[in-house]
Amino acid sequence: MPRVLLSGKLHDDGMAVLRGRPDVTIVQMTGDHPAEFVAKLPEADALLIRTATLPREALVNAMRLKVVSRHGVGYDNIPVDALTDKGVPLAVVGGIHSGTVAEHAMFLMLALSKAALRQDRAVRSGDWNPARARLEAFELAGRTLLLIGFGRIGRALTLRARAFEMKVIAYDPNVSAAVMAEAGVAKVEDWRAALPEADVISLHVPRLRETENMIGAAELSRMKPTALVINTSRGGLIDEAALAAALRDGQIGGAGIDTFDEEPPRADNPLLTAERAILSPHIAGLTQEAMARLSIAAAENVLAGLDGRLDPALVVNADVLGRVT
Ligand code: NAD
Repeated sequence: MPRVLLSGKLHDDGMAVLRGRPDVTIVQMTGDHPAEFVAKLPEADALLIRTATLPREALVNAMRLKVVSRHGVGYDNIPVDALTDKGVPLAVVGGIHSGTVAEHAMFLMLALSKAALRQDRAVRSGDWNPARARLEAFELAGRTLLLIGFGRIGRALTLRARAFEMKVIAYDPNVSAAVMAEAGVAKVEDWRAALPEADVISLHVPRLRETENMIGAAELSRMKPTALVINTSRGGLIDEAALAAALRDGQIGGAGIDTFDEEPPRADNPLLTAERAILSPHIAGLTQEAMARLSIAAAENVLAGLDGRLDPALVVNADVLGRVT
């Protein structure tokens, strides 16, 4: 009987999908310690993993493993090359929570453009008239949004930003100008050169060697003093100390940050005391609806992997599909 190892708690809807298959045994991990992966993975035919880091050494004896199903789209917690070497597909959930993340990016943009946190504090502290006189709020309509990364979430954000009458420009070396034009987006060839014209810069690229710290002091210094920087993608894309300094010095207007280099951020992370930042605890994709959808999709990928009918479009290392191991 195939055994499915569950790392992290799965929403009831996803559990129902797995339990709908009486031929499958579900083994819930008690934590995310590397030793538990090493001990339990050799007995597993499938692994469904949330945010824990899958230790490379746990794969050495994972001889039965037929699929790893990531409960999300990011996979920087998974040693993909080691899975590929073993011929094990890594499946992700595709675009089912792209709109969820895009909505959060929109929320951060709106909250920053209306100075929401300061207005709230002003009302509560009796600072009503001074807050009105400061005239801090500005409109997104007519502003230019620069997307860095035009994949699923970048496209979902485009729909929402255009509904707010924003002009959208995007940088993505893997997407043609024609595809962007169909979405009403102008392609940018040199994103650094485009920084001075952007009112909002929103990151939607994976964390890779070439994207690490892509926004640093030099990039921040090219932005408008009113520019907003949004990161709902991955920590490590922005030099957090440089961002905090840029916010403090008024070099940019604000930042909406959902993902941090180290999560949770350390108590001395300078963004925690940055006045013009709105922070959230990596929840852009974590709504009630998305969790239900994600759990179902991740569970279905487990079953598809066991049955040998995975959708190649959802497999990160699709070249292993059909490989005889
Ligand atoms: P995707 O794979 O559909 O799109 C990523 C895009 O980035 C691709 O089009 C790719 O061509 C592009 N890209 C890669 N390297 C680039 C570079 N150097 N410069 C410009 N573009 C580059 O991914 P997605 O579903 O849109 O997700 C984007 C990011 O959002 C991922 O990193 C994912 O982990 C993250 N994410 C965060 C949350 C959250 O809760 N905050 C939830 C889901 C996804």
